Amino acid sequence: MSMRIADIQCHLMQAGGPPQTGWTATGKSALASSRNWLFVTVHTDCGMVGTGEGSGWPRAVAAAVQDLGGFLVGESLHSIERLHQRMRTAVMSHGQVGTVGSGAIAAIDMALWDLRAQALGVPISQLLGGPLRQAVPYYTHASSVAAAEAAVRRGVRAIKVGGIKGVVERAYAIRAALGPEIDMMVDLHGPPWLNAADAIAIGRELEPLGLLFLEEPVAPDDLPGWRRVRSKLALPLATGERLATLSDMLPFITEGLVDVVQPDTGRFGGLTQMHKLAAIAEAHSLQLAPHSGSLGPVAEFAAVHLLSAIPNGLVLERMDPDWAERDAVITQTLNIERGHIDVPAGPGLGTALQLDAIARHPSQRNIAIADGGYNAGTESESLLLQARRPRAALTRK
Ligand SMILES: [Mg+2]
Repeated sequence: MSMRIADIQCHLMQAGGPPQTGWTATGKSALASSRNWLFVTVHTDCGMVGTGEGSGWPRAVAAAVQDLGGFLVGESLHSIERLHQRMRTAVMSHGQVGTVGSGAIAAIDMALWDLRAQALGVPISQLLGGPLRQAVPYYTHASSVAAAEAAVRRGVRAIKVGGIKGVVERAYAIRAALGPEIDMMVDLHGPPWLNAADAIAIGRELEPLGLLFLEEPVAPDDLPGWRRVRSKLALPLATGERLATLSDMLPFITEGLVDVVQPDTGRFGGLTQMHKLAAIAEAHSLQLAPHSGSLGPVAEFAAVHLLSAIPNGLVLERMDPDWAERDAVITQTLNIERGHIDVPAGPGLGTALQLDAIARHPSQRNIAIADGGYNAGTESESLLLQARRPRAALTRK
C-alpha cells in the first residue's frame, strides 16, 4: 500500500438530541443542546478519502486532530498499527492518553481502516477477519412504558432505562408491559453519581428483573466502589464508555468487576484498539457492547463492522429514534430491520460525508448542563456525587 497521507481535515457540527429518551423526559435535555459530532477525513496523495469520527469532547478533539494531522502528512499507509503507535507516542508528552487524545486517535484510525478497506475493495468487516454474522442487534433507550412499547413495535428487542429518579418503578413498569422476551438494561450513570451503598440498594431492587446488565452503578473512577457493588449484587455489570485506553479497562477486566465492556467507538482509540479490547475481553469471557449514545453515524458504521466480526459482540447502543437530521450527513445509511443492523457490504466503512449537510449545522456549544437527577432542592449545587437522603425518594416517585 504505497499511498501517503496528503491531508487530514475536521468536519465539526452541532447535532440535535434524540426525542423520547431519558435526556428529554425531564424537559431539560442536556444532550439536545450540547451534542457535537466531529467527523474526520484523511486524504491520500492518490485522491482517496477515508472517513472517521472522534468524540470525547469533540471541539477539543478537533484541535488534537489538527495537531496530529500536521504530524502525519507524508506518512505511508502501509501499516495502520505503525501509524497508531506513532499517534500514541506523539501525544505522550501531553500526559496520559485521555479521552481527548484517544478521541483524536480514534477518528484518524477509523479513517485509516476505511482507506485500507476501500483500497482493497472490501468492507472493513473483512479486514477484521470476516463477518460471523450478517446483522448485529441493537438496543434503544426508553424513559416510559409508551416509549418502550413504541420501540418494540418498531422491532427493537432490547430496551435500556436510564436516570436515577424513580428508576426502579420505571424499570418494573416497562418489564410488566413488555414481558420477559424483551431484554432490559438499566443505566445509573451520573451526575450525580451514586455512592456504593446507594447503588447496592437500587441494584438489589432490580435483581428480580433479570437485566441483561446494570450499567455504571458507580463512577468508573471509583474502583473501591465497584469492588463493593460487585461483591453485593447478583447482576451482570457494565462500564467503559468514559474510558480511553486498554490500560483504563484492565482493572475492570482483570479484577472481574464487569461482565460487559462498553468502549465508545469515537473515543476508545479507534478500531485498532477496539479489536484488541475485544480479544482481551474474550479471554476473560466478557462481552462487548459499544457505547454510542452521543455519537454520529460514522462511528456507528465502524461499530457494526466490529460487532459483526468478533465472537463476543453483545449488542450496539442506538438512539432510535434519533435526531431527524442524522442520516442527512452521510451518503449511505444503515439498513435496519427487526432490531438488527445489516453489516454494510460496500468497500471500507460503507458510507461517506455529505459536507453540505454538515455545514448547515455549525458547532455552537459543547458543554452539557447535567440536571434532573438531584435530591429535591439541591440541583443548584451541581454536585458530581450525591448521597441519597432519604433513599426512598430516590427509588420511588
Ligand atoms: Mg451509559
